Amino acid sequence: MMSRLSLLALAALALSACSPTETAAPAASATASAPPATAPASAPLASAPADGASAPAANCEVVVESNDQMKFNTDHIAISRQCAEFTVVLKHVGSMPKAAMGHNLVISKTADLPGVVADGIQAGADADFVKAGDERIVAHTKLIGGGEEARVSFAPSKLSGSDEYSFFCSFPGHESLMKGKVTLTD
Ligand code: ZN
Repeated sequence: MMSRLSLLALAALALSACSPTETAAPAASATASAPPATAPASAPLASAPADGASAPAANCEVVVESNDQMKFNTDHIAISRQCAEFTVVLKHVGSMPKAAMGHNLVISKTADLPGVVADGIQAGADADFVKAGDERIVAHTKLIGGGEEARVSFAPSKLSGSDEYSFFCSFPGHESLMKGKVTLTD
């Protein structure tokens, strides 16, 4: 009994150990229709980070959803330094109106978040809860209601590598639940 069980366990281990090569093999042979000397096929991938010109485009856009439960669907936005311009698309997948459950997405240094929110509240709904000309703000979308969508684009170079950044909704009372980290990646 015991030995049979452990045999089964071993078999399972062997199967799972094998699976990476099994799944990798078809992919490799699919691209390598020519003789074994297919170095060029994998070369672009390997050199992608160093070679900006011929590298496949980094993912320079992110879609963030917000809802009637006062939540974003992520707590992290990763921005590649390779992007000349990065775009954040904010979707409100709920149905409540802007006045009751409006959302925007603001990016600033984490240390500046409280001040940006306080000044945004003072600026009011007509200003999308964003103080006009606030230089602490890296980027922000307009305020949207259920079913709406907004986007904002900016240069990742506006973020310094040595500071911590956050994204948040500046609608009064929302930033406690609606915030996350913004990080730079290579
Ligand atoms: Zn909000």
